[in-house]
Amino acid sequence: MQHNSSGYYPRMLLLKNAEVFDPEPRGRTDILVAGGRIERVAPGLSLPAGLCDVVDAGSSFVVPGFIDCHVHILGGGGEGGYATRTPGLRLSDAILGGVTTVVGCLGTDGVTRSLPALLAKARALEEEGLTTFIYSGHYAVPLQAMTGSIERDLLLVDKVIGAGEVAVSDHRSTQPTFDELARLAAETRRGGILSGKAGVVNVHVGDGLRGLALLRRLVEETEIPASQFLPTHMNRNPRLFEEAIAWVASGGLADFTTSTVPAFIEEGEVAAALALRRMMDGGVPVANLTFSSDGQGSLPRFDAEGRLVGLDVGRVTSLFASVREAVLEHAVALETALALITSNPARILKLRGKGRVADGADADLVLLDPGTLAITGVIARGRWLMRDGQPIVQGTFE
Ligand code: ZN
Repeated sequence: MQHNSSGYYPRMLLLKNAEVFDPEPRGRTDILVAGGRIERVAPGLSLPAGLCDVVDAGSSFVVPGFIDCHVHILGGGGEGGYATRTPGLRLSDAILGGVTTVVGCLGTDGVTRSLPALLAKARALEEEGLTTFIYSGHYAVPLQAMTGSIERDLLLVDKVIGAGEVAVSDHRSTQPTFDELARLAAETRRGGILSGKAGVVNVHVGDGLRGLALLRRLVEETEIPASQFLPTHMNRNPRLFEEAIAWVASGGLADFTTSTVPAFIEEGEVAAALALRRMMDGGVPVANLTFSSDGQGSLPRFDAEGRLVGLDVGRVTSLFASVREAVLEHAVALETALALITSNPARILKLRGKGRVADGADADLVLLDPGTLAITGVIARGRWLMRDGQPIVQGTFE
């Protein structure tokens, strides 16, 4: 194993005979990687011997590195006391899941978890080889920003791309009012416009009966468009999922959470893969949908009396597992399912150079076995993190 270091770019790499999905199928072609970017995607590329590493991709599918747009990289949870605070993301977790870009966020706890610590963790993961961004704030509204306001955070802190995750329709939320959320969305929108970033509000929607009511009212009664909000956990129960279908059909965005446990599914959670299938069957625009893992977030299990009986932790590996499930079990085309973790989040979150296999894009690539769709290789910013199914890089303290 080798440890990663920042600012290091490997030799040029020529990947021959790759079956490319960018995420649309592009057929058999070659990919030249230099300086952490994709220099050229074209068949029949060759360079003088010794100038670059040449690797035959054989029959492997080569797809964009995955974008996980909601990860508690610093850890989260704590709803069962201090001992239930969950641990942070390790580099190897991301590698095993083919995740090369993560958007980190805080959650319920904005006291013992802080934005400077989140920013530092994002920078650490970037030094270890990933590409990272963060949302500013946590569940609470008014939002507690890093530099005084969300608008200033967006303009002054490079890694901040939006606000969140702010909570609505949840017993753990601050019960934000219409005016509070309107002000927050407006400031986030203006900060996004001025900084050239997405400036979206990532909204945690809880199990509360009000569901998306507050978001619908904001879109109806203010000038803020539906696309300013990226509501997440939209598959958490059948009622919210039905609301999500109508919301997306009328132009809204929706994020489905892929981390789950069997007990949640028994209670009515719509598994992310099935949620995608049902959205497609309902004629809803798939371009407005994303998957995220809620990785390192807590998945509390309660008994019939509501007592906490166990705690699982969300995994970033669930992200691609759900894409695979959609393809293998629900007959969704690979390119359609892949878009939810590549080109869709890249476009919605304005992550330039991400989510595509194209000339000039960042060299974030995942190699898949064409039969089983198992992840066999991961390249992030031009560097191999996994080869032959095994991670070859690990985090600083792993
Ligand atoms: Zn959440």
